[in-house]
Amino acid sequence: MKRFSLAIDSAQEVVPIDWLLAADLSELMALASDKRDRLFKKNISYSKKAFIPLTKLCRDVCHYCTFAQAPRSVQSAYLTAEEVLEIAKKAEVAGCTEALFTLGDKPELRYDVAREALKSLGHPSTISYLRAMCELVLQETSLLPHVNAGVMSRDDLASLREVSASQGLMLETTSTRLQARGAVHFGSPDKDPTLRLQNLQWAGELSIPFTTGILIGIGETRAERLDALFKIEELSRQYGHIQEVIVQNFRAKPKTKSHAMVEPDLEDLLWTVSAARLILGDGVNLQAPPNLSPHDYQRLVAAGLNDWGGVSPVTIDHVNPEAPWPVITQLRERTEGAGKTLVGRLPVYPQYALAAQTWLAPDLAVKVRRLMDSEGYCREDQWVTGRKALPPNIRGASKHIASQLTMQLIERARRGQRLAEEDIVHLFSARAADFEAICAQANELRREVSGETVRYVVNRNINYTNICSFRCTFCAFSKGKTHEALRGVPYDLDLSEIVRRAQEAWSRGATEVCLQGGIHPSYTGETYLNICRAIRSAVPDIHIHAFSPLEIFQGAATLKIEVKDFLAELKLAGLGSLPGTAAEILDDAIRKVICPDKLNTEQWLSVVRAAHEVGLRTTSTIMFGHVEQPIHWARHLLALRDLQAETRGITEFVPLPFVHMEAPMYLRGFARKGPTFRETILMHAVSRLVLNPLITNIQTSWVKLGPAGAKLCLESGANDMGGTLMNESISRAAGTEHGQEFEPAAIEQLILSCNRVPQQRNCLYEPITETRRLQSLEAKPLLPMHFTPPKKHRSLAT
Ligand code: SF4
Repeated sequence: MKRFSLAIDSAQEVVPIDWLLAADLSELMALASDKRDRLFKKNISYSKKAFIPLTKLCRDVCHYCTFAQAPRSVQSAYLTAEEVLEIAKKAEVAGCTEALFTLGDKPELRYDVAREALKSLGHPSTISYLRAMCELVLQETSLLPHVNAGVMSRDDLASLREVSASQGLMLETTSTRLQARGAVHFGSPDKDPTLRLQNLQWAGELSIPFTTGILIGIGETRAERLDALFKIEELSRQYGHIQEVIVQNFRAKPKTKSHAMVEPDLEDLLWTVSAARLILGDGVNLQAPPNLSPHDYQRLVAAGLNDWGGVSPVTIDHVNPEAPWPVITQLRERTEGAGKTLVGRLPVYPQYALAAQTWLAPDLAVKVRRLMDSEGYCREDQWVTGRKALPPNIRGASKHIASQLTMQLIERARRGQRLAEEDIVHLFSARAADFEAICAQANELRREVSGETVRYVVNRNINYTNICSFRCTFCAFSKGKTHEALRGVPYDLDLSEIVRRAQEAWSRGATEVCLQGGIHPSYTGETYLNICRAIRSAVPDIHIHAFSPLEIFQGAATLKIEVKDFLAELKLAGLGSLPGTAAEILDDAIRKVICPDKLNTEQWLSVVRAAHEVGLRTTSTIMFGHVEQPIHWARHLLALRDLQAETRGITEFVPLPFVHMEAPMYLRGFARKGPTFRETILMHAVSRLVLNPLITNIQTSWVKLGPAGAKLCLESGANDMGGTLMNESISRAAGTEHGQEFEPAAIEQLILSCNRVPQQRNCLYEPITETRRLQSLEAKPLLPMHFTPPKKHRSLAT
């Protein structure tokens, strides 16, 4: 036999049919498994769903089917709206995200009872009623409909696209022989392969993420199976819409015409799964239902599948009611036992979710974005940045060992090597055992680099104005002068109030004031200089940590001087260091979406570089979990690492998980709900590794994560608690619930509860005197603050 060498990278490569038919099964499986690993790494996905059998009446009479019922066997022709909603709500409570509508094909064309039922429901067709039920589920629950409604017209497909995340139609076979008298599709007009292929094509033309598949063992030959797979692949290449192919094995069921047919054996199923993997393009997910092969998960995984399909904790599989779905915890354990990781997905697969604007109707796109994580998979839990609910305890959840690649990358990072973008993306994709290994190793590295001491600084945030002429789409803090009713009260603090707050902070033991504000249209570089001079003269020993690179850039521009010269003037006026904010994501494609008029990546880096050159140190930050993906996190971390290699001026890295609640881009529907908790922990752990040994302080933000979340970060690579803040208002404007101040005694208590040693520091990571520390522990409550309204704005330059 001629050995076929598969250049599987190329979607254009046509796998020879003769070779597939004659190939050795173990060789085929090894090739298929390698291809799956290359495309999907360790992930095997599944969708947590509810099965909603809207009608079991069907005009077709497929000989193997137990789903379709005669009118005398059903209580009513269609589920009522109340019944649909009852299933969907139960599923929502159980954490499902998919409402799978599977139903018989156009029963109204065969049965009076169906026509009458539709009439009384006020719908001309089953598809019309289905659309209404999808709308109901979308309105009343968080579930996303996936519809399997049989053969449809192009208009029906288009209509259902408006109310579903994805659709499906099993091709089953391309063999027309199976429609002949005595064969399984005799008497089933909708099983005509030409019609079904036509539906697949229309779905492609309409950009519908589409699921299809083949049913094996129903009388087709292996060559006919391959023909069906090649035809699916041809359409997939043309339109890119085939998200998933199911290889379903025929089961001989009692009381069907096919009860005596021989079921395909495991080897036949494995051969077909492997052949499908080799034929189908890189973007196509491959599924074999786990409930139809309950004893053979390991071998199915070895044959190259990457998905277990829908699994329901609340309903049975109405197509195979005799075959119970696995319990999800067992499915997870058995998947991990096969060396893989079980990952929840939405009914629409990740690559389509990530490009929702192309593949989904606008309302569905918004809903999908709100349910997905940074890779387009289903969010793992209910946790969101800023809310008081306790985070899930996700450390230590896996008993399995991490992949070789992950361990190699960790090792290289621990040796201080610069990882490549794709290496960092791999680390960010870690789940289960890989996630645990990254967090544990980051914690170990933290121990080596910074020991058991956890530092914090007593400081006060002073946001001198919330008036801003910029349009950052994530920002809930800034107010236009005319949008008071819409977005809260604008203010522009008098210089005397800024100074009063700095004096009060010093009296409460603070060693730092952190000043940032909106880009007020009347401010000039002189304004920023005067703020520094006034504070320096009133409170000579307090460290002024102020002005983001954006404010510096703007200030220099208004004075028409070089950034570096402006920074030197600020330093003379008393500025001590800069916050590395306004970085958001250092990737211009993302900046165009989230902060289109802000300085670009290169400008941000050049301001920070200039600050370091004049002897001003800076922090560094990332704001993550909105519209970006792990590749952008990787670029961001590498940009910071490279800058630090050049200047050594960065004191710390602060991951800032996106707070979605009040953010305009979330409210307008184009952002995610912030990072998941796994992603948040990973950002601390991966940055510890990737920035090693150049940035040694990784800070966790209690404002965003709360004490419990911050504690888990301290156990996953972070070594710093940041500031006590006294008046946090930017995150609060975005909707966080963790308060405005974390008092020194409470921070120290939290650090001690991690068996670590608290130490108060100043902004530059130097220890402070015990006298200052005691002063901070005995601080009096803050006096009420005065917010100068904008109409009273006077130039601070006077
Ligand atoms: S993030 Fe800063 S620059 Fe952007 S709108 Fe908000 S206050 Fe203005």
